[in-house]
Amino acid sequence: MSMSPSASVELAPKDFKSDLKPIWCPGCGDFGVVQAIYRALAQIGRPPHEIAFVSGIGCSSRIPGYTTAYGFNSVHGRALPIAQGIKMANPDILVLVAGGDGDGFSIGGGHVAHAVRRDLDLTYIVMDNQIYGLTKGQLSPTSPRGLKTVSSTFGSLEAPVNPLQYVLGYGGGFVAQGTPADMAGLAAIIEEAIRYPGFAFVNVQSPCVTFGHPESQLKAQKAMMQSLEAMGHDPTDRLRAMDLARDYGVKLYTGVFYRDPEPPPSYDSQIRARQAELQGKGLPRERILDSFLPR
Ligand code: SF4
Repeated sequence: MSMSPSASVELAPKDFKSDLKPIWCPGCGDFGVVQAIYRALAQIGRPPHEIAFVSGIGCSSRIPGYTTAYGFNSVHGRALPIAQGIKMANPDILVLVAGGDGDGFSIGGGHVAHAVRRDLDLTYIVMDNQIYGLTKGQLSPTSPRGLKTVSSTFGSLEAPVNPLQYVLGYGGGFVAQGTPADMAGLAAIIEEAIRYPGFAFVNVQSPCVTFGHPESQLKAQKAMMQSLEAMGHDPTDRLRAMDLARDYGVKLYTGVFYRDPEPPPSYDSQIRARQAELQGKGLPRERILDSFLPR
């Protein structure tokens, strides 16, 4: 996370809550996610005007509007490119990105791989409910095989995307999973993701109470969830993280799967270092890189 002069400001969760009343269905898991985000941001201590919150399209993508940060409820599947542009233009700003499983791993799926390998310092929170909620209950890329929905009357024939393995497979430096069934744990995970100095991914099992399948609901989650920390998982062990991530959809592990113990310089910091190096040698700055830098 980029630091700023006002990094030590004391803030409370309520400072990040906007006046806009959420229009999610009563009981939707996203209510818990936004509360966890308020708590995490209060711990971070950056004021709302130093935070940009970008989302795609979907129920969960309403979330920036429920915060006091600068918000952009953008284009379906395109939150990550927009967020990367914001970070490049203003490297001191804290950038959060949010969306659903369909927004992130179907329509925007191609962008995730490139955001991971490019490794800008931002936090990507996916509210994974294994369904398209906003459009009334179609199969999503993370829907389990066999799920009956309005678009799969006799059950899905497809294997789901595994978001944890997806991001780990592309070399993600921070990969975690949480659930609003454990609010304190989720807030702590999001805070840790924001503090990670690079691309950080948090998959949140956020139930859709209206169209979601029974195993995805909070009651079932509470019975299933297992803390990686309590299991003694070493989050610096990438291979073990990959192994545990294979259980996505079968077991519900919460906590940090992987955190790079020696994060490389993020893309935004590398560009600035490259330009400084060229200038130091009396060479012309790379114009293409210059176009990203603030004037
Ligand atoms: Fe939440 Fe589902 Fe309602 Fe959308 S349709 S607001 S995901 S419960």
